Amino acid sequence: MADTVHTPRVFSGIKPSGGLTLGNYLGAIKKFVATQGSMETIYCVVDLHAITVWQDPDDLRNATREVAAGYLASGLDPSQSILFNQSQVSAHAELGWIFNCVARVGWMNRMTQFKEKAGKNAEKQSLGLYAYPSLMAADILLYHATQVPVGEDQKQHVELTRDIAAKFNHDYKVDFFPQPDPVIDGPATRVMNLRDGTKKMSKSGQSDMERINMTDDADTIAKKFKKARTDPEPLPETYDGLAERPEARNLVDIYAALSDVTPAEVVTEYAGAGWGQFKPALADLAVSKLAPISEEMARMMDDPAEIDRVLAEGADRARAIADPILAKTYEIVGMVGR
Ligand code: ATP
Ligand code: MG
Repeated sequence: MADTVHTPRVFSGIKPSGGLTLGNYLGAIKKFVATQGSMETIYCVVDLHAITVWQDPDDLRNATREVAAGYLASGLDPSQSILFNQSQVSAHAELGWIFNCVARVGWMNRMTQFKEKAGKNAEKQSLGLYAYPSLMAADILLYHATQVPVGEDQKQHVELTRDIAAKFNHDYKVDFFPQPDPVIDGPATRVMNLRDGTKKMSKSGQSDMERINMTDDADTIAKKFKKARTDPEPLPETYDGLAERPEARNLVDIYAALSDVTPAEVVTEYAGAGWGQFKPALADLAVSKLAPISEEMARMMDDPAEIDRVLAEGADRARAIADPILAKTYEIVGMVGR
């Protein structure tokens, strides 16, 4: 069978499982905004994923609006991109179920995110947390998306999405779902925890000191970078000199991503500088980039009805693409009535 050529289309999402971090901004949102305009772009607040771990309902509502405000305040334009929250488009959950029946238990057992999030308590986790990757595959494939901009931590899930698409196409002898590519580039594909350079920065991490929140004020940002774990050495002459210094490299990578230069250029500029010089410069840079965004987010959060209106309008446009693809999927699978 000839391979269908799929129109380039971008899909990605962020969970409202807490407030946005600098990792979400540099690893995801900044890239979402940069892609906008060059092709069709669909961005989601994935609330169904958030409840794979307990969320207080009021906090979830607030976080959903805050993630949407974060997208918009960072430059996402709802006239150029589709922006909506996942639960308003029921086809996500429906295709997610079909993919639960395509994906194999052995595939899920290899997912490192589940192992990291479950820790020693796998038996006590929700079934949803375990099945999460097949819902994520549905999010992407429901739009026949071909590109998925994500941080490094989501690479394995996008690869699983490709496996699910291939198995569906093979089992039903169709060429229906595309093979989406993860898009993971730039210096900040894995922003690390400020207190432990072996762990990534996460919005659901234990301590507030380990992450920069998009809504942190200037003093808090300066304090967090000041207390960020480093080593006693000054910055090296070349970027290679950071190979065995994960915490130091993380701060250089953050600086590079925020200022849109390469990490090598940052090292050249600050060669030989101590942390007493570099950390305040990094804090000033972060404040100059984040303050306009957090101010706009605060302004938008004063008018939640307007955020809800944008999300509802985006959901209408998302449904217009998703519903025919779901209907065709049901037909392929052999469901009567569509
Ligand atoms: P949680 O702790 O609840 O999993 P999270 O901070 O990991 O939250 P997600 O909603 O899981 O955020 O991920 C949203 C997007 O942000 C994904 O594309 C993910 O790869 C990216 N991302 C998350 N953390 C980082 C990070 N530290 N560096 C770069 N990208 C990141
Ligand atoms: Mg995550």
